[in-house]
Amino acid sequence: MGKTTLLKDASVLDEQAQCIRHQNIYIKDGLISKITDISADDGSVAADEVIECSKFYVSPGLPNLHTHTAMNIFKGIAEDVTADAWFNEMIWPYESKMTDDDVYTGTLMGIAEMLNNGVTVFADHYFGEEQVLKAVKETGIRGDLAPTLFGAAPDFSERLAQVTEFIKNHREDSPRVAFHMGPHANYTCPEPTLGQIVDEAKKLGLPIHLHVSEEDVQVEKARRETGLTPFGILHRAGGFDLKVLIGHGLWVEEGDLEYLQDDTWFAFCPKTYMKLASGRGGFFDHYKKLNFGFGTDGAASSNTLNPVEQARLFGLMGKFQARDASTFGAEEIWRHLMAGHQAFPFDTGLMKEGAPADLVVWDLYQMDTFPFYSPISSILYSSNSQNVKYTMVAGEFLKYDGRLKLDTAALMEEAVRLQKSLLARGKGKAEVTY
Ligand SMILES: [Zn+2]
Repeated sequence: MGKTTLLKDASVLDEQAQCIRHQNIYIKDGLISKITDISADDGSVAADEVIECSKFYVSPGLPNLHTHTAMNIFKGIAEDVTADAWFNEMIWPYESKMTDDDVYTGTLMGIAEMLNNGVTVFADHYFGEEQVLKAVKETGIRGDLAPTLFGAAPDFSERLAQVTEFIKNHREDSPRVAFHMGPHANYTCPEPTLGQIVDEAKKLGLPIHLHVSEEDVQVEKARRETGLTPFGILHRAGGFDLKVLIGHGLWVEEGDLEYLQDDTWFAFCPKTYMKLASGRGGFFDHYKKLNFGFGTDGAASSNTLNPVEQARLFGLMGKFQARDASTFGAEEIWRHLMAGHQAFPFDTGLMKEGAPADLVVWDLYQMDTFPFYSPISSILYSSNSQNVKYTMVAGEFLKYDGRLKLDTAALMEEAVRLQKSLLARGKGKAEVTY
């Protein structure tokens, strides 16, 4: 018999932005086993642990639809540079000398930051998948890994075989782990290689996760070379036969909409777009027709791994552009934030009995958020990681009473050591160019 946890007298904030007060939430065997009004609770379920939540709000955990978690080791290394310089002069040269230790510790740092901010599930897009998987398993978070493939790299065929083998060997490892096939992007994967990756994904029965139309220069180049947009290229490669997670898609065009399917999901990451000056794009013209949630992108471009911040920026960008403050309402944005769970195969993101107990307990009685009149607005516009009192994944507390279970002091000490080491190693030669 697993233990039973009771979140007592909580205000439930569900995925539809409804708030229901005075609820007892019982958690057992990783699931929400019962939700009941306190007045209707006959106390027949014995709880091994009771958390008094009368001042707290409980919502589904936050999904992060697109990140390069290990890049936390590069947080702040490439500031105030163009996208071109960011890739070609900074990130790819440094990444070419990255070690397993860098990937492992960087991923742990990223997971710690995400758990601190209430993230319970994330879609990773990176290489070094052994290290990423190890970090996911050790920390208890839910991870959906897309081991990244560069079709233009000289060792592409070996790498594709290696990734395929890795996924086959590990896809049943844990109910908290899932995989996507992860072509980096159409501009780093020549069309035949993109097709090969898509075919492999079909054989494995996996979805794909890749960057599409992040910048207008990518769209122009694709069109010049093939007559198609990056979405069109992905379509021709058979990509939309599969469930697809689009990293970014900021420059989506009217004509691209015909390719999109019911299970095409966009990970919108506005902080990166503003920081790398990616332009306005077409996303805001079409967002009502798109399935989307929020991604943080990697910390080397957006510096933080907090999906609430991305949701906040999305709403603010929307209002700013529309010049209509009554648009992009907090509840609508909250629903998009939570809808992101559907990009994953874990059935998370629902405040209902039988759903996985992946939850955040919000404490809004803090200086930055108090007083508040609407908990959703308070979270969206005012909150930070201090407001995340507890983070629970599959019924386990990974942040408890404001403190992470991970040993963050040791982690930071190791990160300092690796930071010195990677600066001493310097930049190498990248295999691909942007
Ligand atoms: Zn990305």
